[in-house]
Amino acid sequence: MDENKRNCIIKVTDLYKTYGKGENEVKAVRGVDLDIYEGELLIILGSSGSGKSTLLNMVGGMDLPGSGSISFKGRDISHYKDRELTDYRKKNIGFVFQSFNLIGELTVYENVALVANTKKNAHITDEMLAVTGLTEKKNKYPSQLSGGQQQRVAIARALAGDADILLCDEPTGALDYETGKQILIQLEKLARQYHKTVVIVTHTKEIARMGDRVVTMKDGRITDIYENTDPMPAERINW
Ligand code: ADP
Ligand code: MG
Repeated sequence: MDENKRNCIIKVTDLYKTYGKGENEVKAVRGVDLDIYEGELLIILGSSGSGKSTLLNMVGGMDLPGSGSISFKGRDISHYKDRELTDYRKKNIGFVFQSFNLIGELTVYENVALVANTKKNAHITDEMLAVTGLTEKKNKYPSQLSGGQQQRVAIARALAGDADILLCDEPTGALDYETGKQILIQLEKLARQYHKTVVIVTHTKEIARMGDRVVTMKDGRITDIYENTDPMPAERINW
């Protein structure tokens, strides 16, 4: 990507987050500065406990910063009230978690339609089920699907909400190798073909090779930002 043509969609400035008090205090994120660019595939790499999820949750409006700021398209979201944050999430952010977070009582179709914009509900839901290869499974329940299929439902759901930004927290964490790879291929496609901004959190170094940029975290700080001029297709990654 040409540095001059990149649009910064999310700007994180001097971000801090502390949990607990006194001897239980944990400084989960301490002084993070990060620009996230429109349409990039960004990897956040770091070992367990390095603050990746905490950072991702604040970027996605799931949690408020302790201090510092996060701006989305130039608007500071760090002091948003609950309603504004909910609105921000709904309009702009799709989440994919390691645990899928599907609703067991709803079918595949219903899980995805739940977050779809009501006006174009049916259309978007069908389209996202098709993109993720789930059309034939639409009337099944999550328990009738494999782990990989469930994760694809979660991706379809994240996309159905019109989100331009997809935040994925260890999306392959609960999956076997081959299935995990298929999920990464799906996420890569969303960035490359559909121009979504895709952020993938992982502790697996090899997975980082597919990113346009790799942000490394340690002890709540960014220790390195690596610009990958020749990202490796997810298809060819081995870990
Ligand atoms: P990662 O996703 O890289 O594994 P986390 O962001 O989940 O890291 O956690 C960073 C640190 O903050 C860890 O020490 C973790 O135990 C702590 N932490 C995370 N969430 C909470 C919470 N809700 N309450 C207390 N401590 C937390
Ligand atoms: Mg985590």
